[in-house]
Amino acid sequence: MTARKVALWDADTLRVYKRLLGYTRRWWPIALVAILGMAVDGGALAAFTQKLRPMIDDLFARKDPYLIFWMPIWIVAIFLIRGIGTFVSNYGISYVGRNVVQAMQADVFAAYLRLPAAFFGSEPSGQQISRITYTSEQVASASTDALKIMVTEGVTVIGMLYVMLSNSAYLSLTLLMMAPGIALVATVVSKRYRQISRRIQGSMGSVTDAVGESVSAHREVRVYGGQQHEATRFAAVSHRARRLNMKIATTAASSSTAIQTVAALALALLVYLATRPNIIGAISPGVFIVVLTAMGAMMPSLKRLANVQANIQRGISAAEDLFEVIDTPAEEDHGRMVLERTRGDIRFEGVRLRYPRSEIDALRGVDLHCAPGSVTALVGRSGSGKSSLVSLLPRFLEPAAGRIVLDGVDYREYTLASLRKQIGWVGQSVVLFDGSIAENIAYGELAGASEDSIIEAAEAANAMEFIRRMPQGIHSPIGQGGNMLSGGQRQRLAIARAILKNAPILVLDEATSALDTESERLIQQALQRLMRDRTTLVIAHRLSTIEHADQIAVMDQGRIVERGTHAELIAQGGQYAALHRMQFHEQEEG
Ligand code: ADP
Ligand code: MG
Repeated sequence: MTARKVALWDADTLRVYKRLLGYTRRWWPIALVAILGMAVDGGALAAFTQKLRPMIDDLFARKDPYLIFWMPIWIVAIFLIRGIGTFVSNYGISYVGRNVVQAMQADVFAAYLRLPAAFFGSEPSGQQISRITYTSEQVASASTDALKIMVTEGVTVIGMLYVMLSNSAYLSLTLLMMAPGIALVATVVSKRYRQISRRIQGSMGSVTDAVGESVSAHREVRVYGGQQHEATRFAAVSHRARRLNMKIATTAASSSTAIQTVAALALALLVYLATRPNIIGAISPGVFIVVLTAMGAMMPSLKRLANVQANIQRGISAAEDLFEVIDTPAEEDHGRMVLERTRGDIRFEGVRLRYPRSEIDALRGVDLHCAPGSVTALVGRSGSGKSSLVSLLPRFLEPAAGRIVLDGVDYREYTLASLRKQIGWVGQSVVLFDGSIAENIAYGELAGASEDSIIEAAEAANAMEFIRRMPQGIHSPIGQGGNMLSGGQRQRLAIARAILKNAPILVLDEATSALDTESERLIQQALQRLMRDRTTLVIAHRLSTIEHADQIAVMDQGRIVERGTHAELIAQGGQYAALHRMQFHEQEEG
């Protein structure tokens, strides 16, 4: 997940590289054709450079009739072949690249569907999304770029070297010996240039910050008379930005001067050496121009080759990030027993829970028995562990100690899928999917449900009341995430979904928190009906809704501190009684 600096050829990197290549294996014939195209691309350029000599020496100087006929044809042919090479390589590499992106996206997405809930809390969701939309693109573009550079530029360099040496070894070697000097000057100058630009970018940031602060804090600035202070601060920052900008301009100007001077010196030296009496006879104008041109064409290719490692590194770190996720172990599912329909006898035995990366236990030894068909209400301050306790049931989280026993059997013995089939769930924040109302109520394994049963469930959840008013009834689209619905409407759909699922265990985690008192009362009847013959765990912030529960468990700091019926707990005069008194007063006043 961190972009660690990778040494280019250490064992880890090689492993990632091999695995990455594995993704391209299925398309290797196309990759091969693309590589061929790249080679043609690079080679054609060298071939054209080679043709410059006859063009200068024979075509125009000697007016050779053979060349006068053939030269235009050669030019067209070379560029036609090069064009085909470019097309084939671009098409082929994109084809392979896009397929690799798709395969990687599919693997990461599949991982997201099977990873445990704890994974999703471990990093921001934006990062998890950008892994699919951005990181996988990075892998593909970095690795295809790298391949393209290695092949195209590699062939160009080799071809140009051949052209140079075959025309005049003397001139070529002289030039090649001067090359490192020119390269050195260019590198030093451009490095300095980059350093300064980077610093400038930082300073531009602080100009933005300074303006942003003063603008957004304009009330504070005025009320506290901070104008002078802000003006001084801004002047300092903008002064610095101007100085740095000037420095960049100076460096840019002097760098091109420096490089031009060095190049001119090198050229002068070359001309001097080429015109020595014992040399000049062997060098034609064409040879001189070809060697110079080939050298010029080779330089950018060399530069790109020298930097190809940056592309590879970028691709490798991106790929590592993806592979890390793909390799994260899936939810534990070692159970063998398939649970048909549970009786709904739930026993929490000494259950402890600690969230990953958390210092303290969210649950500190919870013992609780929920008899088949009974209603257990969990109450307590926010943060006392109510949601944590119920999210153990579908095994979103694994207890750190203790166990949960369902129908007399440790619930890990059951297969995860059959366990989750037993549970209807309405959470505090309801997430809906892009689709119609019907599709959202009959989601997942409920997808085959008949229209009548969907309407019946919606009716029971008191949702038909608003669904009927929508233009297309239960087939109305609800927009991405259900953003066209209010919180209360969303909760009623979630309740309808739970009703339709008709599971023997029902978990209601503040299922009516987004509803007004009026709608809550209406739904309460629906829920009461729903709870019949089911084992229900209900978390409610309005105590009036749980007075009739078979047992009420009061939680505090990860423990159950009181347990009993409403009447018993009131008589006991403890935390519950106090909470109840408080809410009762609020209602009186409100
Ligand atoms: P309740 O539902 O009673 O309000 P929770 O079960 O949500 O309480 O939270 C219990 C404790 O666990 C709190 O201290 C909370 O900070 C912590 N907690 C809840 N969810 C997470 C999480 N995903 N990661 C770390 N700690 C969590
Ligand atoms: Mg909660």
